[in-house]
Amino acid sequence: MIDIDKYLEKIAAFVADKKTPIVDLIAVQTKDPFKVLVATIMSARTKDEVTAAASARLFAKAETPAELDRLAEEEIATLIKPVGFFHSKAKYLRELPTALSKFGGQVPAEIDELVTLPGVGRKTANLVRAVAFDLPAICVDTHVHRIMNIWGYVTTKTPLETEMALRKILPPRHWLTVNGLLVAFGQSLCKPVSPHCDECPLTDCPKIGVRPRKKPTEKRSAMLTTSNTLKFVSWNVNGIRAVEKKGFVDIVKAFDADIFAVQETKAQADQLSEELKNIAGYRSFWHSAERKGYSGVGIYSKMPPLSAREGIGIAEFDSEGRVLTLEFADFYVSSIYFPNSAEELKRLDFKLRFDEALQEFALGLAEKKPVALCGDFNVAHKPIDLTYPEKNRKFAGYTPEECAWMDRFLAAGFVDTFRLFNQESGQYTWWSFRSNARAKNIGWRIDYFCVDAKSRDRVQMASIHPEIIGSDHCPVSIEFRPGK
Ligand code: SF4
Repeated sequence: MIDIDKYLEKIAAFVADKKTPIVDLIAVQTKDPFKVLVATIMSARTKDEVTAAASARLFAKAETPAELDRLAEEEIATLIKPVGFFHSKAKYLRELPTALSKFGGQVPAEIDELVTLPGVGRKTANLVRAVAFDLPAICVDTHVHRIMNIWGYVTTKTPLETEMALRKILPPRHWLTVNGLLVAFGQSLCKPVSPHCDECPLTDCPKIGVRPRKKPTEKRSAMLTTSNTLKFVSWNVNGIRAVEKKGFVDIVKAFDADIFAVQETKAQADQLSEELKNIAGYRSFWHSAERKGYSGVGIYSKMPPLSAREGIGIAEFDSEGRVLTLEFADFYVSSIYFPNSAEELKRLDFKLRFDEALQEFALGLAEKKPVALCGDFNVAHKPIDLTYPEKNRKFAGYTPEECAWMDRFLAAGFVDTFRLFNQESGQYTWWSFRSNARAKNIGWRIDYFCVDAKSRDRVQMASIHPEIIGSDHCPVSIEFRPGK
């Protein structure tokens, strides 16, 4: 077991000159639980500087519940835009004064009362109790959950489990401060992707499940030789313009992958910002749907491809912008967004026809050279790949027909790379936005990297990255050895 006092002391020294998380800052500046609560509601899935600017605009108009009650929902949305999910948060904030009236117009300090307020989950409630009231609470967000597991201080699967475990073992003197310290530490050094272990003061860190960054001087050149391994990442971003506001470009840079494929971009190429199209070190390629704001795939590549092919040559599928393939000297890589069978399975037939056509297309590629197929397959293959298999047998993404196609696809000569390395349950890539499903890890594994069977041994590692937020899906990745 690590020495938690020593660890947190070293981190406090390390982050002393780092920026303070925005809700701590607002607490220090105002001592006002209402402002802390409002800023905390806005801060979820939003960069601190965006929350700070939105808070300033909103508080200039409404510093109290009574003043907030005078604003219309649309006005609140305009003031807080572009915080993540600003429409939903505007609705929560519009409802907040009425909800607070049950508590005499004051923000309550108890967790059970705080979680009755609109937009307030357990994490927000703990943060408000700790920051605004200086009362015992452990706010466990993704940074605290992730870093405590990296240290082996807890072994848990969800932030809620981490909170419960920490309540038993973390000395109370750290309850109030641990969140602020680990958020600043997680944002600056122990990052979700490629943490900077080479600069870390915790020299005896167990680094459980961590792949540290390579020191900049050790970086590979962009043009790789046959002995090198390439890193491929795939992410259904559920709207690339929306995820841009949640730090997408920084996430791509942090992964430092050779290929970064995206799906469900929901944008035409000419609707993308220059920052999105021209991430330093990459060329980007896009295949969009004819219908605006729908479907769409893309690939960022460090290496110039021999060719880029949009679609699979069948108009009814290609008009929906579902497949983009880059050809390199030693391999193909395809970014694929499989159709969703939709409510009442209205598009099941369409999806199954796409599945078969895509399989034919992929077999054609695999005859020529190794192929990596990545993306949102919109199917959980086996019971292990979703939390509630029995309940979902008749629903899109887990019908017997869709699972049978996945069986046929693998039997035809493709490999689900993640299951080469991991046979555990609870490994998901998509969670509903409803019912706090992600925090409870009620999810589905529907995003895959598949390779042709002959390339099985080229895959050195396959991973899921649930710590990366911004979409209802998380990224998946492989390390792939091209060449002979
Ligand atoms: S050594 Fe690496 S993994 Fe461990 S705390 Fe430091 S940055 Fe994080």
